[in-house]
Amino acid sequence: MTSSASSTGTDPALPPEAGFVAGSGAAFNDEELRWRENLPFWAVHAAALAGAIWVGFSTTALAWFLGSYAVRMFFVTGVYHRYFSHRAYKTSRWFQFVLALLGASVVQKGPMWWAAHHRWHHKHSDDELDVHSPVRRGFWWSHMIWILAHKYRATETDRVKDLAAFPELRWLDRHEMILAVAYGFVFYFLGGMTGLIWGYFVATVLLWHCTFFINSLCHVWGNRRYETTDTSRNNFFLAILTLGEGWHNNHHHYQRSARQGFYWWEIDISYYVLLLLQQLRLVWDVQGVPAHVRDQVVAPKRQRVAAGPTVAPVAGKH
Ligand SMILES: [Zn+2]
Ligand SMILES: [Zn+2]
Repeated sequence: MTSSASSTGTDPALPPEAGFVAGSGAAFNDEELRWRENLPFWAVHAAALAGAIWVGFSTTALAWFLGSYAVRMFFVTGVYHRYFSHRAYKTSRWFQFVLALLGASVVQKGPMWWAAHHRWHHKHSDDELDVHSPVRRGFWWSHMIWILAHKYRATETDRVKDLAAFPELRWLDRHEMILAVAYGFVFYFLGGMTGLIWGYFVATVLLWHCTFFINSLCHVWGNRRYETTDTSRNNFFLAILTLGEGWHNNHHHYQRSARQGFYWWEIDISYYVLLLLQQLRLVWDVQGVPAHVRDQVVAPKRQRVAAGPTVAPVAGKH
C-alpha cells in the first residue's frame, strides 16, 4: 500500500492534514502503517518484557519502576499536556527548555509534535476529523494504532506556532530520538541493568499505555459531569494512574485550567506539583477553574432538585 494522498477529489476547503476525499465519506484515506519504522515501538515492548524476566523482580526494581513512572508521568501531564499543549501556566524561557528536555524522557516524541496532535484533538473531539476518537475509529485505533500510522509522524507546525517561535524547541523536536536513547544510557549509568530495564523500559511501556488510556478509555469509561460536545469521561482509577488526567470530562469542559480535579476529592497530583513549582517561583499564573465554570452544569440541577420544578434555571449551558 502506498500513501498517494488524494490527488483527485480532495476538498480544498478542508486542511490538507484531514486527508478528506470528497464524496467518499472517508475522512482518513492514507493511514499507511510502515512496520519497519515502527520497529522501535515494538522493540521497547520486547525489551521491557524480556528484560524484566531476565533481570527479575526485586525491591530495587520496584523502586526504579515506581520512581521513574511517577516522575515521568508528571512530565507527560504537567509539562507536555498542561504547559505545552494548553499553556495553563507560565514560566521563563530557560525553565521552559528544562521542562522540554526533561519531557523528552517520556519517549512520546517532542513537545511540539505532542501539542500539535493534542490541540487538534480538542478542536475536533470525537468529530469526523478527530485522529484518535474511540467512538468513531474503534478502541485500539484511538489507543495506539494512530501513532503508528506514517501520516501522523510529522509535527504539524501550523498548530503550534507559539512553540515553533523558539529554535531550541524546534531543535528538540527534531532530535527526540537521540534524546530518548540518551535517557536510556542515563538510567543505565545511574542504576545498572535494573535501572535500565525497570526504570526505563518497563516504566516507559506503562507510561505509554496509561497516557494512551486518556485518548481511548477516558472517552468511553467513566462519568460525565458536563455536557461537552465529545464523549470525555471522569474516571477516578485513571486519574490515579495518570496523576490527574483521568478527570478528562472536566478538562474538556474547561481546557485552560492547570487543575483538572475540580474538587478537593478529585485527586490531581500534577496540579499539586505545579503549585509546589509555583511556590518555588519556577512557574507562575497557574490557572485554576473559576467557580461559575465549575458549577455551570452541576449547580442548576442541584437547585432544581432542592427547590422543586418551579424554580427558574439559574445559568445557561455555556
Ligand atoms: Zn488537553
Ligand atoms: Zn479527550
